[in-house]
Amino acid sequence: FFITFEGLDGSGKSTQLRRLSARLEAEGYAMTVTRQPGGTRIGDRIRTLLLDSRTENLAPKAELGLMFSDRAQAISEIIEPALAAGHVILCDRFTDSTEAYQGGGRELGSELVLRLHAAICGGLQPDLTILLLPDLARSLARARRRNQRTASQETDENRFEREEDPFYQRVWDAYRQIAIREPQRVVAIEGDAGIDEIHQQIVDVVLKRLAD
Ligand code: C5P
Repeated sequence: FFITFEGLDGSGKSTQLRRLSARLEAEGYAMTVTRQPGGTRIGDRIRTLLLDSRTENLAPKAELGLMFSDRAQAISEIIEPALAAGHVILCDRFTDSTEAYQGGGRELGSELVLRLHAAICGGLQPDLTILLLPDLARSLARARRRNQRTASQETDENRFEREEDPFYQRVWDAYRQIAIREPQRVVAIEGDAGIDEIHQQIVDVVLKRLAD
């Protein structure tokens, strides 16, 4: 069973993924937890390249290609073996991120992203996607506060943090379109409920789908 987590930086996605993972493990599910970009050795190198503030002038289509290179590696090295072993996979970001950030944010369009997905990922789709869509302004404020805290400890700032609000507005809008297009797969959690309340909503949805 393949579950993905999606949302903007600062949406609380990684916190919720960790909490769900702990809960499913306590329920006795065999789990594989991973993230994109990253998750494999090759993917971690691609992630470093993508996020490095020194990666200047990376053409949008080059960025897009790197996202799918990372994904192709993760599918072959992690996702397919975990599915074959009957694990529940929790993946922090998947193709919806590429559709939202490169398709929407970078304005390459959904169609190109979906064509590449079909060519490279074949029929692989998440069984369930948890999309966290809190208010955009609050997500951005949270992400920026966090970046200020960590900036002094890290050698490089994340290249995407230089983007302006209209970029993130396009990402947000693209995510929302995906949720409207695929309501069966994508469970969108909008609004600003507390961490515990959102966790409970996610647990309810996931346990029900796993039992179906
Ligand atoms: O969520 P995570 O920390 O893994 O994302 C790393 C960064 O990469 C974020 O700043 C996100 O905005 C960016 N990203 C992107 N396009 C993707 C996936 C992530 O711009 N397809």
